[in-house]
Amino acid sequence: MNKPLIGITSGENKLFETTDFNGSPISYTLTNVTDAVIKAGGIPVIIPVHDVSLSQAYIETIDGLLLAGGADVVPYYYSEDQSDKLGKTDAKRDIRELALVDAAIKQQLPLLGICRGLQIMNVYLGGTLYQDLSYMPNQTFAHDQIAKEQEIVHDLKIAPNSRYAKLTTGYKGVNSIHHQAIHKLSKHLKKVAWSSDGVVEAAESSNKEIDFIGVQYHPESLIDHFPEHLVLFTDLVKRATKKRQEKYNTLIQQNVYTK
Ligand code: MN
Repeated sequence: MNKPLIGITSGENKLFETTDFNGSPISYTLTNVTDAVIKAGGIPVIIPVHDVSLSQAYIETIDGLLLAGGADVVPYYYSEDQSDKLGKTDAKRDIRELALVDAAIKQQLPLLGICRGLQIMNVYLGGTLYQDLSYMPNQTFAHDQIAKEQEIVHDLKIAPNSRYAKLTTGYKGVNSIHHQAIHKLSKHLKKVAWSSDGVVEAAESSNKEIDFIGVQYHPESLIDHFPEHLVLFTDLVKRATKKRQEKYNTLIQQNVYTK
């Protein structure tokens, strides 16, 4: 059995650092995310900017989906108007990712969300976001850290008896590179980690039909100095390996493949 294919969502940006193709639109994701998937034993596949009609085909091709970080979700998708402190948005990316999530859930594909990835999942499942942390009723500490992204800046409180708690024994804390957070949590998710000021830092599915875990921080940036943070990626690869095996077994039963 080959290693599982882990689809990774991408954003659209423009290329400015090289003289070749200067200013051309590109599909991008951070190399530390693809590196983390490789380190965890999976094969990363960056899903480029694409027409939503391909969503289902992408989901059928991959064994797990990693919803990566990026721009703010357009508040329209959680029935709010835009507030002053909303950051940069990318409506086309929202449309692509909501369609991918929809197809992924229908096929019970394993999912991992990072930062925006946790937020878009909460929005897809009917939750809402604080468009900026300054809109949270209780004052929060600085979640958009000045320290390097490889550094831990705050602690977590973790819900015992959660999948997340079982995975993250030995955590010393997390980085924090976000100005938004979950406001109303979807009824299909449960809060499994939070910071001392009450910001949701991790949530997992409370619906057995949905195989999802998501975090507000960036484990991909911490792995080099804090290898325990690879665990969310190894967990995704493990779940995706199981999914790949199931798909393979189904094809054998249908005589599409022979052993
Ligand atoms: Mn934080």
